[in-house]
Amino acid sequence: MEDVVIIGGGVCGCSLLYELSRCKLNTLLLEKENDIACGTTKANSAIVHAGYDPEPGTEMARFNVEGNALIEQLSKNLDIMYKKIGSLVVGFDDDDRKSIEKLLEKGAKNGVPGLKIVEGEELFRMEPNLSREVKCALYAPSAGIVSPWELAIAQAECAVEGGARVELDCAVSGVKKEKDGWTVLTNKGDFKARFVVNAAGVNADAVSEMAEPKRFTITAKSGEYYILDTTESSLVNSVVFPCPSKLGKGVLVAPTVHGNIIVGPDSKDWPRGDYSTSAQGLDYVKKNATRVVPSVNFRASIRNFSGLRADAGLEDFIVGESKASPGFFNIAGIKSPGLSSAPAIAREVAKQLHAAGLAFEPNPSFVGTRRVRRFKHMSEAEKRAAVKENPLYGIIVCRCETVTEGEIVDALKRPVPPRSLDAVKRRCTPGMGRCQGGFCGPRVLELIQKHLGLKPEAIMKDRAGMYIVTGETKQGGVR
Ligand SMILES: Cc1cc2nc3c(=O)[nH]c(=O)nc-3n(C[C@H](O)[C@H](O)[C@H](O)COP(=O)(O)OP(=O)(O)OC[C@H]3O[C@@H](n4cnc5c(N)ncnc54)[C@H](O)[C@@H]3O)c2cc1C
Repeated sequence: MEDVVIIGGGVCGCSLLYELSRCKLNTLLLEKENDIACGTTKANSAIVHAGYDPEPGTEMARFNVEGNALIEQLSKNLDIMYKKIGSLVVGFDDDDRKSIEKLLEKGAKNGVPGLKIVEGEELFRMEPNLSREVKCALYAPSAGIVSPWELAIAQAECAVEGGARVELDCAVSGVKKEKDGWTVLTNKGDFKARFVVNAAGVNADAVSEMAEPKRFTITAKSGEYYILDTTESSLVNSVVFPCPSKLGKGVLVAPTVHGNIIVGPDSKDWPRGDYSTSAQGLDYVKKNATRVVPSVNFRASIRNFSGLRADAGLEDFIVGESKASPGFFNIAGIKSPGLSSAPAIAREVAKQLHAAGLAFEPNPSFVGTRRVRRFKHMSEAEKRAAVKENPLYGIIVCRCETVTEGEIVDALKRPVPPRSLDAVKRRCTPGMGRCQGGFCGPRVLELIQKHLGLKPEAIMKDRAGMYIVTGETKQGGVR
């Protein structure tokens, strides 16, 4: 019998797994995809919002502001790529100024530190490429950028090292109430648990209905993006938003922790499971971004992608124990700022689980720190030492991102091993650069094959069904 089964391995599920790994418990996370962080967690703006946007008094406001501080701390402890670069919400006219003053007020109520309105020379010194039509901006120094999938993966890795378990390719199809807890039905068999936590992202309404009467419906809202090459990295120094509207926070232009520029998103209702981009969506992004930063060079685009917001149509997140089905907890309707809020949501749910009877004897094997070697970011002396210690650090596999074989092999040995090309990319970045894996993809495939003993045709580009090779040729190679 598990103490807790968590359904869904996005940033919310993984943050809870990590939080619960502080205690001596049997905790199991079930994820339907072949890797964690494959849902909304891998496809968003990657901003650690400061917290001026949510309505004061909501759980969302509290989780956002607390989560912002927790992510800064977690990134130090778990060596997650993060930068506190601040954000600007820019205004063009008197109406926008009023909206900005409102955000400042909300931010002050939410406890966001250091907010101020900047204008004129001060503003253009901060962001020289802003449109000269911009009149003023709300500056939030506590906003940051993070590698969103790394935030999830790092926490899952530490939790697993500390004794928690992750079951991949494991889709939950039912949740049954029993006398002493729950049975969770999956394609990999049944799992018994005292407590069940639903962190299933855009599918959280379906999972909730397995255990409790219908409470909410989730609409998937797609947001599309451009990723620009690292050649454009000096375009903006902070996260630049327009004033928010009914559609959300608007099209932002921001640096990423990997040195690219991200531009997007739009917002529209979209089918679940459909991550396609559209000419219409991308045109909208282009038009709105250049209004704020006219010199965005879309010719330097190296990738488009889209993510799906899990919108329950509410002002707040749905977090906590079900009244109708005690022992069943929801982390649902986690739209933006869900990434920024996840560690704080996890703390809250862990607290509620303990209040509901979950033991909290400290886990002597708790892993609270992690270190990752990133060749590209090493000094010359560190590089020489790394190659001396392990010659695989002298073999560059990804030329765009300067990723070595040593880093890939290390990633393949981590507690939640990557089994697809993109899973390796999420852990150590081969294929993230301008050629998008055109050069290094086959080498990464060979390394997965060699170190995990998988057949090449069993190795996907990303999700199940995204085949790279389909079988052996007569010459013994793969096609
Ligand atoms: C366009 C866009 C931009 C955003 N920008 C930001 C931002 O800048 N900052 C910010 O704070 N937030 C942002 N967000 C929100 C943030 O990305 C999400 O709130 C967060 O990633 C949600 O994480 P999650 O763990 O709840 O969901 P997910 O990451 O979707 O994880 C849910 C997991 O559950 C799994 N699952 C589903 N059904 C089952 C099942 N039956 N059995 C087993 N597993 C199942 C899925 O495969 C998935 O891996 C943005 C979102 C979008 C879409």
